[in-house]
Formats: sequence, structure tokens, C-alpha cells
Amino acid sequence: MKDNKHSLYIFGPCALESLEQITPVAALLKRHGLTYLRTQLFKPRTNPDSFQGLGKDGITILETLRKTYSPAELKFVCEACSTDQLEIIAPWASVIQIGARNMQNFELLKAVGKRFSEHNDFVLLKRGFANTVEEWLESARYLMQGGVPKSKIVLCERGTRSVTSPTGVQLDFIAAMEAKKSGFLVITDPSHGSKRSEFVIPLAKASLQLGLDGVMVECHPRPAESVSDAKQAISLEEAENFIKTSL
Ligand code: PEP
Ligand code: MN
Repeated sequence: MKDNKHSLYIFGPCALESLEQITPVAALLKRHGLTYLRTQLFKPRTNPDSFQGLGKDGITILETLRKTYSPAELKFVCEACSTDQLEIIAPWASVIQIGARNMQNFELLKAVGKRFSEHNDFVLLKRGFANTVEEWLESARYLMQGGVPKSKIVLCERGTRSVTSPTGVQLDFIAAMEAKKSGFLVITDPSHGSKRSEFVIPLAKASLQLGLDGVMVECHPRPAESVSDAKQAISLEEAENFIKTSL
């Protein structure tokens, strides 16, 4: 499951926006032998007027990518926020992502357990931004009871709310390291975990330095134009530089 012998790298935009947006990101991964690409069709947004993702329409983009890249060369990472969305993404997603807001959506966790098949690489379970490590591990147990092998669950620390951090969020390395003691693979998301592009690479490097199993990073060919989470999007040049120097 790891993309190189040391770490699991997942890169890509916050949301799938267009073929033109995702093509250079896929090419970047391919250049470095990486495979896991964020291709989020459904976005849980705080503001109901914000872009909610391309939804089903985004599948045509995934179909087009498949003409260039085989499932072994490029693996799609997609979040499901509901069981309906799960049905839509499951045939496409190598990685089924459960987002922070749904970490304790127990019915969704049970459904993912049932839906998980050999066609899926793993389930990425993000920690809710106000959940304890114990609660996170219990949620992982829901997946296991549903049938997902422990080795096919990757936990992702994505930061907690903070009243002292200037960005309002703080990547919690202690929680990530504590969770790792339970034998799960644990990666971090320094993008949502900092909310600011200038902190993403330093936190990604720190995660690897701490012995965590990888990172999920938001990047965009034109970060300022990112339809969602523009402030935390790093450029493809920055992403490539990190990949080159850390692989
Ligand atoms: C995401 O990774 O796309 C996302 C929405 O993150 P989180 O669930 O951690 O907020
Ligand atoms: Mn995002």
C-alpha cells in the first residue's frame, strides 16, 4: 500500500474541478512513481452555498484518466459522506475516505465495512477535529467489524480546533503517535491540519521525521484559483520539490 518503501503519499486537489486541473497532478505523481491521487467528487462544506463537488458528473473525468493510467498506475482517493455517495464512489475509489465530520457516522462506517472489497486498497479514516484517540480507534473497530481488515485501515490525523493557533487548527502529532501504538498505519494531513500553504511542507516533513506512515497533501496547478481551500493549497512545484527530496 505504501507508495515507496518508507511512506504513503496521497496528493491532489481539495476537490476534483476539471480534467484540465487534475491532468498535471496525475502526471506529477506518475513522474515519481506515486499512485494515490485525491479525486474528491463530494465535498462536505460548512457553507451550503459553497462548491459541493462535481458529484456524479466528475466520473467522466475519472473515466478519461483511466484511458491514460491503469488502476495500478493511478489510484483514486474519494470521500463518501453518505451511503448513497459510497455507492457512487466505490467502483472507482481505490481508497474510500471517511472525513473528519463523519468519523462517528456509525451507519456509514458499517456500510463501508460491507462495501469494502478486494478492489479497494484501503479505507482512510480521518480523526474528527474534536474526537479523542479512543473514539477514533473505536470507529476503526466499526470498519473492522464490518469486514475491513486492520491492515487495510489507515488513520489520518487532520488537526483539531485550536483557540491558540493563529489558523484556528493544530495538527496533533501526539494523537497521531498515540494512535500508531495500536498497530494501525497513521498518516497526517498537514493541509487541513494547518489551513495555510506555508506550513504544509514543514509539517509534512515533521510527520515523516516522527516516524508516521505518510502524508496527504492538497496541491493545485494554480493554488490561488482553487475552488475550495485555496489558502492551504500548495503549488505542483512545491509538491514536486517535497516528493523529490523526501522519496
Ligand atoms: C478532505 O480531506 O477532503 C476533507 C474534507 O478533510 P476533513 O474531513 O479532514 O475536513
Ligand atoms: Mn480541502
